Amino acid sequence: MSLGFIGGFLGWFAVGVALWTLLEWFVHGRLGHRRGARNRFAVEHARHHATPQYIAGWTLKFLVVTPVALVLWALVTPVLGRPDAAGLVAGLTLMYLYYEMVHRLIHRRPPRSRYGRWLRIHHVHHHFHSPRTNLGVTSPIWDRVFGTYARVELPVSIPERHVPDWLLDPATGDVSAAFAGTYVISRRRTTGVSGTRVPEDRLSGARVSEARASEARLPEAQAFETRASEESRRGTGG
Ligand SMILES: [Zn+2]
Ligand SMILES: [Zn+2]
Repeated sequence: MSLGFIGGFLGWFAVGVALWTLLEWFVHGRLGHRRGARNRFAVEHARHHATPQYIAGWTLKFLVVTPVALVLWALVTPVLGRPDAAGLVAGLTLMYLYYEMVHRLIHRRPPRSRYGRWLRIHHVHHHFHSPRTNLGVTSPIWDRVFGTYARVELPVSIPERHVPDWLLDPATGDVSAAFAGTYVISRRRTTGVSGTRVPEDRLSGARVSEARASEARLPEAQAFETRASEESRRGTGG
């Protein structure tokens, strides 16, 4: 195996990784959050916003990614040659699978590193505050390039019904000490009839004003979530 083979593979692998981060931004923002989008990804993604614990299973993901990777391989091999094409397809595919894993961990497991903490703050803000910003999940690069990056002010509030288990202290039912100052639980709810927002007066002490300032930025996220819930109830979510 020559150095040229390895160099070509690794170089195009890096291109594939970078290309996925761009695709991640594009698919999430342009397919998932475009107003009126009815494509399968938009429906699945709306369901995820309505119920953040829901993420389509690995079987569906592999059924989609495998033929796409094979077609891409067939298309680029005549152009780049086998080593470089293998690098490109491997970089794209593995970075995509890494994104899928990271997205699951964001919603289901606590962070274990500074990067993990950043991932969750960035994505929680996208979910519950501003669904048209912070569209990159694994990196903020393309949000910065395309002007969809939103700096997150802490603490960031999470609606009570969507608080992930990893955030809670089981003894108190509130944000655990490890995440105090980073997240607050918004225990407000809407009445079923009028839709008027009613405070439940159960926010923890000094965090009330911080959470309310954060809540003031919520309408767009709520509108998206409401649409997503309606889609799910109509049974279009799959
Ligand atoms: Zn998510
Ligand atoms: Zn989204």
